[in-house]
Amino acid sequence: MRPAGLFCPQGDFYIDPWRPVTRAVITHAHSDHARWGSKQYLCATDSVSLLRDRLGTDIAVTGLNYGESILVGSVRLSFHPAGHILGSSQIRIENAGHVSIVTGDYKREPDTTCPGFEPLSAHCLVTESTFGLPVFKWPDTTLTAQDIRSWWLDNQALGVTSILYGYALGKSQRVLNMLQDDIGPIFIHGALHKPIDAYRLAGVRLPETKLVSQAPKDFDFSRAMILAVPSAHGTSWINRFRNRSTAMVSGWMQIRGNRRRRAMDRGFVLSDHADWDSLIRTVREVAPEEVWVTHGFADIFSRHLRDLGWNALPLKTEFIGEVNEDKESAPTAAGETE
Ligand SMILES: [Zn+2]
Ligand SMILES: [Zn+2]
Repeated sequence: MRPAGLFCPQGDFYIDPWRPVTRAVITHAHSDHARWGSKQYLCATDSVSLLRDRLGTDIAVTGLNYGESILVGSVRLSFHPAGHILGSSQIRIENAGHVSIVTGDYKREPDTTCPGFEPLSAHCLVTESTFGLPVFKWPDTTLTAQDIRSWWLDNQALGVTSILYGYALGKSQRVLNMLQDDIGPIFIHGALHKPIDAYRLAGVRLPETKLVSQAPKDFDFSRAMILAVPSAHGTSWINRFRNRSTAMVSGWMQIRGNRRRRAMDRGFVLSDHADWDSLIRTVREVAPEEVWVTHGFADIFSRHLRDLGWNALPLKTEFIGEVNEDKESAPTAAGETE
């Protein structure tokens, strides 16, 4: 660790640095990982356009396909699917026969909008721990999808507009993909337009969406599903939908009280991160000699790994719990988050 972030001296690059550096290798395009100001960016091919959307079209960015490797300094570097969002990658670094893997954010649940997590083996594993508490145990994804669809149908029967909040990059596209079947019209908040477009351009099939602002005047939204970013909740933007039911889709909905504190009618548990069991399962599959735990409940999860006999330690990250829309940041660390 250096002040700018996680550094690889043999390759002279940083991974997801939080300050401007010469060479930044980026796991994925969420704003707590892809930060502004570095001279050169290297990421997976599917992250390139998302990175440009976030950091500016003029950044110097190179994309590498999953599984292709290049030599950087004395290390061989490659990107492998992390199953988190489009373009999300584990970064594999091989130096003189020693292999390290930096997972970035990842999940093990199925998600048809991006390639699934690829299990690799390594001597050193750097794992995230956003949901590294035993209380986090994700329900079956297909059941959550059914719950969302029946909530929409129930609302339609009552003549109530369905408003579903989810993070702009990753979560909204995954939810959209679950709504494929034709229940009614789907509208989106303006903040979702660019990331949805990026997914479509990458070849991900998503149902038709319209911007709310494109709807004709006096349009009847009572059969519609509106996808929006969490920060739109409680603003004048949603007041146009007079009879409405609001719901939030997030891993944090598993904690009782989060839905109520956000003043939502419903909460659906769906996360793009690994839950407690998946984190442990991943450590077992990678079977490393040492584990560095970062991004989340690093102290608690690394202590548990040590109890299980692993050589594990927490890595300090600078921006734990930072508040932003695209990240599922911890309410415990940052207060109420969006
Ligand atoms: Zn992320
Ligand atoms: Zn993250």
